[in-house]
Amino acid sequence: GSLMEKVLQRRSLQMRNMQRAWEESPEGKKMLQGRMSLPAFREKERLLQAIAQNQVIIISGETGCGKTTQLPQYILESEIESGRGAFCNIICTQPRRISAMAVAERVSAERGEPLGESIGYKVRLEGMKGKNTHLLFCTSGILLRRLLSDHNLHGVTHVFVDEIHERGMNEDFLLIVLKELLSRRRDLRLILMSATLNAELFSNYFGGAPMIHIPGFTHPVREHFLEDVLEITGYKLTPTNAIDDYGQDKLWKTQKQLVSRKRKNNITVLVEDALSQSSFENYSSKVRDSLSCWTPESIGFNLIEVVLCHICRKERPGAVLVFMTGWDDISCLKNQLKANPLLGDPNRVQLLTCHGSMATSEQNKIFEHPPPNVRKIVLATNMAEASITINDVVFVVDCGKAKETTYDALNNTPCLLPSWISQASARQRKGRAGRVQSGECYHLYPRCVYEAFSEYQLPELLRTPLNSLCLQIKSLQVGRIGEFLSAALQPPEPLAVQNAVDFLTKIGALDENENLTHLGEYLSMLPVDPKLGKMLIMGAFFRCFDPIVTIVAGLSVRDPFVLPQDRKDQATTAKSMFSAKFYSDHIALIRAYEGWKTALSEQTAYEYCWRHYLSAQTLQAIHSLRNQFHYILQDAQLLEAEAGLNNRLSHNQPLVRAIICAGLFPGVASVVHRETSMSFKTMDDGQVFLYGNSVNAQYQTIPYPWLVFGEKVKVNSVFLRDTTGVSDSTLILFGGGLVNGALVISAMPYIISCVLLHVLICPFLS
Ligand code: ADP
Ligand code: MG
Repeated sequence: GSLMEKVLQRRSLQMRNMQRAWEESPEGKKMLQGRMSLPAFREKERLLQAIAQNQVIIISGETGCGKTTQLPQYILESEIESGRGAFCNIICTQPRRISAMAVAERVSAERGEPLGESIGYKVRLEGMKGKNTHLLFCTSGILLRRLLSDHNLHGVTHVFVDEIHERGMNEDFLLIVLKELLSRRRDLRLILMSATLNAELFSNYFGGAPMIHIPGFTHPVREHFLEDVLEITGYKLTPTNAIDDYGQDKLWKTQKQLVSRKRKNNITVLVEDALSQSSFENYSSKVRDSLSCWTPESIGFNLIEVVLCHICRKERPGAVLVFMTGWDDISCLKNQLKANPLLGDPNRVQLLTCHGSMATSEQNKIFEHPPPNVRKIVLATNMAEASITINDVVFVVDCGKAKETTYDALNNTPCLLPSWISQASARQRKGRAGRVQSGECYHLYPRCVYEAFSEYQLPELLRTPLNSLCLQIKSLQVGRIGEFLSAALQPPEPLAVQNAVDFLTKIGALDENENLTHLGEYLSMLPVDPKLGKMLIMGAFFRCFDPIVTIVAGLSVRDPFVLPQDRKDQATTAKSMFSAKFYSDHIALIRAYEGWKTALSEQTAYEYCWRHYLSAQTLQAIHSLRNQFHYILQDAQLLEAEAGLNNRLSHNQPLVRAIICAGLFPGVASVVHRETSMSFKTMDDGQVFLYGNSVNAQYQTIPYPWLVFGEKVKVNSVFLRDTTGVSDSTLILFGGGLVNGALVISAMPYIISCVLLHVLICPFLS
């Protein structure tokens, strides 16, 4: 190893020279000055010392104090300065891909380097790192994936796990694995970072590891709850719009069925009480009149609009950050705001969005200062709560909800609903307003509701299905799933684990002794949900890859069919056109995508999307994801390099249907035909319903006895999203049973030839 040692030493010296040169340069000096003003800087020496002396430490500090961008950088700098730069390898995980990318870009800019030099990032399906990268920002999922093939994290010196207060599933999972690894790798350092203070929990988990708090300065933020907001804006909640205005009656009813039944019920009562109080009678006819020009469907956003108009017209300059529940709401409100004359001169308002699937170019604009006299308004999901810091925010509007999945283990059904946030989240949202000067925070719910929020959010491990997670645990070769998970910070219910194991066994990823099958091994390597992974493998295997990869990409991004609130019927009809007599949302997706590609080559894509109610942005995302899946499957040697070979049977529509069935099994509902109507049933839930925009919801009858579905979600009743009709024989041949994982993989290359398939199977499929 002495040659290697010499190479690294030489490289370390180069790194030191480069670092010193940057620190001496005018730009470098300026950058350093900015960095030195962050609260983390004052703790630098103490932190470095603590990290040197302890294997695990826990650091907390206000968002924006410099944890993510500075702490890993301090270690890198001090190693470089001591001439050991090339010997250290720091990994810092982020819960979201977008923050991993944004932070890496920021840190490399702070070091005056292009991204991919000493600083790199890696997120699912994308990355930028080189042989000189010594500080890597990645998603927690990526680090888990690396641990699969590299149990000891060979060569890694420091691991930072960031945003642990969010209690994401991957983070909790990582902590179990890392805790075990620390006993084998005595030299490895683990640093946990968290925004809010529940550090004791983590400290106890790691045997009383030391905690360090970075005292931050934030300017005071004045808090307004709903009662004050109404007073300030002069907006009146009338009894009819009161419920709609911020919560939608329906959602509250469903809240009652959720996990913490009691708490939510109390909130419902509290809100109703608060809304009926007389203090809300104060009301201005001017606002009321202008409100009437909005469509009734848009009323749910009115309160947010009213507050934004108030800020734009009456308040001092400063950016506004609006917390909403999801991408749909955000794009809907954005369109509404664009058309709202009360916001004032449109040239003086800059409307931006911030959510998990936004484009990188859009992302940079969020951080930039707007031109003078222009007000920046950022519509964001709870992503902007802690992982991304927008410095110039002075006003925060908090709708009080976030979309989170909850998991009902009894019914084995995930529920995706906007639900009330925790007090910790509400405080965090408020804090975003006080970064540069004192700020204002408008909570769109009464104070009594805030007081009824739970203190912290339930960890994700306890509120999501564990299918992918269990598959990953198996491929880590750490023994039985149940035992492994019982070592978690807060272990999931045994029933939830059992459901996941049953599912994996049904799709052929595990055998009856809970061992990984060959199929399971392949599935654990693919960075997609096991169900979708299976579909990809089947598509490759049956030489029908092209349409299948479109479906999988579509299901992993989001639905490209848009559903504007005020034109739902037209949009649904437009979607049905793609399905014609196929009775399949998935085939509609394939056809929409293919039509878009043709339109793209004829340069009519814009018009095409507009006419068919499609999102060009989503189609573009699907397009690029398709290419990435191609690459991944080729890499795993499941796909031939020559595209034609993989797509010989792409136009065989019954086969496409059969592969959809194979992928989505055991998600099957039976179609119960009556004289004039039909209903749907599944084994687990009894009666289920179709989402209104499913093509199959548009027919009186369906000529198939079964529907396979990708996802069921509980919202009052159980709803199926994206369905495809299949026949008895398809279900028998492709649903579970025959398609044993081991068989598929070992037969992979040519054993069942295309000829056999054509002659023997296909005639039975339609
Ligand atoms: P923490 O992790 O403690 O929340 P960060 O390290 O993310 O804090 O951010 C520290 C500071 O760097 C913040 O004041 C933030 O505004 C600034 N910052 C982070 N990213 C960028 C960026 N892309 N452009 C400009 N400033 C940024
Ligand atoms: Mg951070």
